[in-house]
Amino acid sequence: MAAAVHHLRLVRVLPLPPRQSPLNLCLSLPLSLLPRSRHLPPARVRCSSPSSPLCAVEERDTRDEEATHFVVVTFYKFVPVEDPRTEVARHLHFLQGRDIHGRIYMNEQGINAQYSGPHKDAIAYADWLRRDHRFCDLLVQISPALCDHAFPRLKLRYKPSLVQLEGGSSHLPLVDPSMRATPLTPSEWRERLEARKSLDESLSKTAGDSSGRKLLLLDVRNDYEWDIGHFQGAQRPNVDCFRSTSFGLSEEEMDSSDPLNGIDKENTDILMYCTGGIRCDVYSTILRNKGFENLYTLKGGVSNYLKNEGSAGWVGNLFVFDGRLSLPPATYKPVAGAVAAADDEEGSRSCSELGRCYACGSEVVELRHRNCANIDCNRLYLCCGWCVEELRGCCCGGCTTAPRLRPLLPAHQRYQKWHLYRHLDQGTPSSSSSVHAHA
Ligand SMILES: [Zn+2]
Ligand SMILES: [Zn+2]
Repeated sequence: MAAAVHHLRLVRVLPLPPRQSPLNLCLSLPLSLLPRSRHLPPARVRCSSPSSPLCAVEERDTRDEEATHFVVVTFYKFVPVEDPRTEVARHLHFLQGRDIHGRIYMNEQGINAQYSGPHKDAIAYADWLRRDHRFCDLLVQISPALCDHAFPRLKLRYKPSLVQLEGGSSHLPLVDPSMRATPLTPSEWRERLEARKSLDESLSKTAGDSSGRKLLLLDVRNDYEWDIGHFQGAQRPNVDCFRSTSFGLSEEEMDSSDPLNGIDKENTDILMYCTGGIRCDVYSTILRNKGFENLYTLKGGVSNYLKNEGSAGWVGNLFVFDGRLSLPPATYKPVAGAVAAADDEEGSRSCSELGRCYACGSEVVELRHRNCANIDCNRLYLCCGWCVEELRGCCCGGCTTAPRLRPLLPAHQRYQKWHLYRHLDQGTPSSSSSVHAHA
């Protein structure tokens, strides 16, 4: 899940001293994100037209519901592909007449795909690919789209690097499974985390067991992903962004505060995770090349874990690289009754621990990024309700006087491309016409 949100500039700024916000509460989830068991009977929700951002809840129509409700699908596989450009043409041909939007990249090292579409089309594509023996064991992950498409259009093409990494990834031996971390199933992963937790408690913070083995839980995602949710007890490499990973640095160059710095390679088990697994496959290959031996990864990433194990050991939401931006764990594994109430309580706690307004440092209402109203900035940032109003949807004071400002959007809606706003009077309420309803 490495294709980054290319057009968004992602920077982290230091928070100013906290200021009281009237909205310092963790609000409940949007209706569409709540597990169905806790809500109204399933109604078909879709956009009134493909180009319109407005959502309309229609009369329940159970017959076609399963086939027409929109889902987001992700999968990837590193496997030798002899003639990727021909493969791209085959895929494009298959997708003709099917309603698929997203990013699907292929090259000699395999495929990386994230896309949305009506269930029927989305699944047909994954099934078609799995009939190819090279991709028969594909782990296909499906989650609900909020409204219709989570991507603006289809980009299916050859790409030299399947993940965004400085210097590219084509030189890495990614198709060799022995170079990657050993995948752990979600339940194995949970067992390891729980064993570590009870060990930590009994040894009061000595992170090694009686045999002297240590465990490092490593989050290899970007800082802004970490900011809205992560595994308890995890650490991050000392960089702001996956692309410029410290894994590429020599030990002398590495910052002393980096969790990988000076690590006992022989006696430390490194458990690494990312959203869907692909970044760990790349990182672990880099680390393997640098002499690290005991590398483990969470198979299918956090999204697969949340689906199978729920939110055990996880706090906050999961950032996703599509129009939905962030999903609460319940999206992957709906919970019911008492468990849900307990989770809400846990979620509130997590929210207050994690989400801070990038502008003023106070707690945010919801663990969900906005993008800056200034099209020439477009930074993804967490913002409290007070600062959204005060800065008119901008990330900072400087952006409020920029020439190309999009009108203020309420709540956590996300700005779209400039051409949708260019002709709008700046005073016109914007929520009615200019925003895609995924945000
Ligand atoms: Zn604020
Ligand atoms: Zn800005």
